[in-house]
Amino acid sequence: MKTVGTPAARLTVAFALALWIALSQIPHPRPVPLPAGAPATEFSAARAIEHVRAIAQKPHPLESAEHDRVRDYIVHEFAKLGLAPNIQTGYAEITLGKFHGSGNVQNIVSRLLGADNAGFPSNTPFPDVKNRGDGDRVGSDAVMLAAHYDSVPRGPGAGDDGHGVGVLLETARALRAGPPLRNDVIFLITDGEERGLLGAQVFMREHPWRFRPGVVLNFEARGTSGEAVMFETSTDNEWLIRGLQSAVPDAVATSVAYEIYRRMPNNTDLTIFKRGGLAGMNFAFIEHPEYYHTAQDTVEHLDPVSVQEQGRYALSLARWFGNRGLTVHPPGDAVYFTTAFTSLIVYPTKFAVILAVLTLLGAGAATWRGGWIGVPLLLLSSFHMWLVNAAPGISYIVAWPLLGAVIAVILLATAPPVFRPGWRVAAIALCAAPGFLLIIPLVSSLIVALSFRGAAPVLAAAAILMLICLLPQLQFMLRTKT
Ligand SMILES: [Zn+2]
Repeated sequence: MKTVGTPAARLTVAFALALWIALSQIPHPRPVPLPAGAPATEFSAARAIEHVRAIAQKPHPLESAEHDRVRDYIVHEFAKLGLAPNIQTGYAEITLGKFHGSGNVQNIVSRLLGADNAGFPSNTPFPDVKNRGDGDRVGSDAVMLAAHYDSVPRGPGAGDDGHGVGVLLETARALRAGPPLRNDVIFLITDGEERGLLGAQVFMREHPWRFRPGVVLNFEARGTSGEAVMFETSTDNEWLIRGLQSAVPDAVATSVAYEIYRRMPNNTDLTIFKRGGLAGMNFAFIEHPEYYHTAQDTVEHLDPVSVQEQGRYALSLARWFGNRGLTVHPPGDAVYFTTAFTSLIVYPTKFAVILAVLTLLGAGAATWRGGWIGVPLLLLSSFHMWLVNAAPGISYIVAWPLLGAVIAVILLATAPPVFRPGWRVAAIALCAAPGFLLIIPLVSSLIVALSFRGAAPVLAAAAILMLICLLPQLQFMLRTKT
């Protein structure tokens, strides 16, 4: 590569890089929390927070008097909606390393009848559950929404997980106000989650409806504010993500979180539902983690915008999955992510493999035509081939910046000796965009999720990745002699 850009051409590329940095700082648009007077068919954060205010007055751990008051409140509220709540009692225990938890739990289970099941009273078991055993195929067309109502002994649990209960109550109300859904919607308010997912265990072990949900949507928090994110799914998630993409165009989700979460020891009720064979998605907000599991987890600290986002997921997805057949769906995982300028981008992992092969071939060509600068790209492409098999959900973070770099090297290698501003310079500038627009926002959210120190290895890896992928532009800007 012996081409040299004119000063104007080099300045154009430098300006473009500055522009990408600025654009990478733009946050996602967020919804306005709806007031208590919002239309009845809409989800209102204000109405949901009224429930949280009633629930999160004091700590209400399992087997406390306050716990029983909260239980009665939730039962009363579901009964007011005409959903005939049942209390499922049972004992469970768990040992996780050094942690041991046990107790008697009281899950609150309600059902909104779908049009396909009209005729069955809402408090009777489904007719065919006796034929289902643990080895049977699970899942039918019911949609299950889940949250837990017990708190830790130290805090009132407004975020964790009073808000989840408020979201479910407000969603049940909004669903009843709208046209009836085809499928049943089950509302499961579990107990004893903080003591070791006890309520979820009792539900999946004994409840006659345990194999009915075709999809479970679980609502949690590790803090009191921040963007509500869909952070975990069951395997073969492409159909779930397609549903999310259609039902909630503004959804915030990344398959990087899916890959991280399935390698971490953290558990929520969804862990138990997934172990029982149910398909599902998990939603949470995680900012202000210093309030998590403390006396500061109060309604005053709870961000209504986060609650509105959780409610948007709950209501839109209940309506979406509530009107579709859920028993048959194609296998396969998806790669998915959002940018500040697009709604959720989704493609199957098969496509990620094809992209990796194309990028590797391109990097080979870049090394052949472009000289030394192709070598780091070729090495990164080989790593990417490994990554797309080991953790396909992470691959997009390498794939698109790398593809940009490979195209930029090929453009440089095939250019005339003197480079003036024109389509080729514009294309080279554009090739740097994926690096900034995908990597920087992801790293910022990982710093929030993992804390700055925990994210240090990620920061180092991201810096190396950015540097390699920006080599063509850096070389173009710095080269002044042939
Ligand atoms: Zn929780």
